[in-house]
Amino acid sequence: MADTKALTTRAADFSAWYNEVIMRAELADYSPVRGCMVIRPNGYAIWEEMQRALDRMFKDTGHQNAYFPLFIPQSFLSREAEHVEGFAPETAVVTHGGGKELEEPLVVRPTSETIIYSMYAKWIQSYRDLPVLINQWANVVRWELRTRLFLRTTEFLWQEGHTAHATEAEAEAETRQMLGVYRTFMEDWMAMPVLTGLKTDSERFAGALRTYACEALMQDDRALQAGTSHNLGQNFARAFEVTFQTAEGTLDYVWSTSWGVSTRLIGGLIMTHSDDNGLVCPPRLAQYQVVIVPIHKTDEEKTAVLDTAQRTRAVLAAAGIRTHVDAREGIKPGAKYYEWEGRGVPLRLEIGPRDVAAESAMLARRTGGKKEPVPLAGIAERLHAEMNRMQIELLEAARARREAASIRGATREQLIERMAGPGGFVYGGFCGAASCETEIKEQTKATIRVLPDPEFRSPVAPTRCLWCGQPSVAEAVWAKAY
Ligand SMILES: [Zn+2]
Repeated sequence: MADTKALTTRAADFSAWYNEVIMRAELADYSPVRGCMVIRPNGYAIWEEMQRALDRMFKDTGHQNAYFPLFIPQSFLSREAEHVEGFAPETAVVTHGGGKELEEPLVVRPTSETIIYSMYAKWIQSYRDLPVLINQWANVVRWELRTRLFLRTTEFLWQEGHTAHATEAEAEAETRQMLGVYRTFMEDWMAMPVLTGLKTDSERFAGALRTYACEALMQDDRALQAGTSHNLGQNFARAFEVTFQTAEGTLDYVWSTSWGVSTRLIGGLIMTHSDDNGLVCPPRLAQYQVVIVPIHKTDEEKTAVLDTAQRTRAVLAAAGIRTHVDAREGIKPGAKYYEWEGRGVPLRLEIGPRDVAAESAMLARRTGGKKEPVPLAGIAERLHAEMNRMQIELLEAARARREAASIRGATREQLIERMAGPGGFVYGGFCGAASCETEIKEQTKATIRVLPDPEFRSPVAPTRCLWCGQPSVAEAVWAKAY
């Protein structure tokens, strides 16, 4: 039986609420290994839906999946100077295997650029071999000191795209294209609006020329970096001697990109939509989009009600709607409603003897509103429409909330005040100096999330850095981040 104690509210303690939502919905659990989590079936089902949608989009943009080893020779990591500096502090290293000390220690991959480029050096000879467009679904390990379920764990699941191109322009186009794919996925599937833009040097991926990111604002008005896409230039190609013969017959290094999203997205989904009753899952990513709860007292009622419930399930399944009939005995309907609410199932159908007689079902939505009877005739079309509407409303609500928590043209005082208080996205001018970024971070804990892409910029471009008053080189968006 599910725990029926009320959750801590978001207003009382957002962090406690987050953990309780995960436990109530049985998405994940703490493991005996510090910093590592177990993704339970209800959480893994969401990840599978995410994978399915993203994988389709990757393939539709010409990518193929492959798999590279979990272990990376330690010397590989140090070939790209910035890369090793960025990742060495958080690597796990295997020194023994089969009872013997290894000649060369093996790093458990924190990311796979190095092992992949060592292979690309073998596979790529000519411009005819380009582009190489490969994605890997894998686990990675980063030795995190402070961990949070889904948001920051020592081991996590992700995908990492690694592509090689003949020209800088092609690599840049790929980097931008995949950022766009991520944005589409986050908005259309997760109903999570994002800002896209460029990272400053201090937040850039270790070894990249440029890093672009998707940034979302959670309900506690802290930012979540939800996905990144890197233009790696020729940095890794030089480090791993990935050269190719150009169409003109000269030898050049390939231009490469990498891009990734992880199980962190599930944390983003939870913190974007869920409420004080538990998980709210956008219909497109829900394990079950509809749960049917049969209600009956006598055996005769039970036969009729279960028969209608199963027939309805079959009709919905045939229409591509993921449907579950909760026919468990000995649990009252009210307790089942409560449990499915906590698990975030978008739509619930209640079917009792009177509904059977009327050839209808009672429809309840996870996002609220009145229960209402719906005819069983045409039910699949009706529920499709309900889910489409819910999907759009969740995105619109999240966008409205984000905009209400954003200020533009901010002054230094407003930045300080916002970061000491409610948080949110603060737009303002930036001089480009790392010293300003550092001071702001020290004094307000805020970082520049992105230098936003044109469509997210303010109508009037700021002329001065909000911190030091020097001329602004770009508008920046600050926030406290996960
Ligand atoms: Zn400045």
